[in-house]
Amino acid sequence: MNLKEKIRIIENFPQPGVRFKDITTLLKDGEAYQEAINRMVERLRHMEIDLIAGPEARGFVVGAPLAYALGIGFVPVRKSGKLPADVVETTYNLEYGESALAIHRDAIQPGQRVLVADDLLATGGTISAAIDLVKQLGGEVVGTAFFIELTYLNGRDKLPDCPVFTLVQY
Ligand code: IMP
Repeated sequence: MNLKEKIRIIENFPQPGVRFKDITTLLKDGEAYQEAINRMVERLRHMEIDLIAGPEARGFVVGAPLAYALGIGFVPVRKSGKLPADVVETTYNLEYGESALAIHRDAIQPGQRVLVADDLLATGGTISAAIDLVKQLGGEVVGTAFFIELTYLNGRDKLPDCPVFTLVQY
C-alpha cells in the first residue's frame, strides 16, 4: 500500500506558503491506519521500550495504538494547563509560533526506556520539547517515530542521539 497517497495536502494552511500534510484522510481509512501502525510496530518490536510518550493531539493518534500493539504504556505530553496532577513544563518554538508542553512528574521513572512518537517531524521543535520533558524525569529516550518527515526542514539534525523512524518523507 502507498501510504503517501492516503495523506492529503492542504495548500496555505494554517498560513500562506505552508503545504499542510493532513493525515485525517489516512486515519479514516481503516486499512491504511492499521498498515501505518503495523509497519511501525515491525520496526520497533525488537527494541527494548518501556513506554511511549506522545505530544497532543496527533502524537496520541500515533503513540497510543503503537503502545497498545507493543503491550506497553502510553504517556500523554500535553499543552500547558491541561494535566491535572503535578507537572514539569518546557517552552519551545513551532514551525509557526511558540508553545509550552507539560508531562506528569510521576509519568516516567528514572531509567525507563521511552520512545517518543508524533505524526510529523518538521523542524524538530515539538519532539525536542517532548524529549526534554522525558529527560527531565530521568527517562532514557531510545528513539523517535513519526508517520511523516519533512526532510527539507532538517529536523533529524536536532535528534542526533537516537534512531528516528519515519514512514513517509517529503
Ligand atoms: P516541528 O515542531 O516543527 O517539528 O513541527 C511538528 C509539529 O507540528 C507536529 O506536532 C505536527 O503535528 C505539527 N505540524 C507541522 N506541520 C504539519 C503539517 O504539515 N501537517 C500536520 N502537522 C504538522
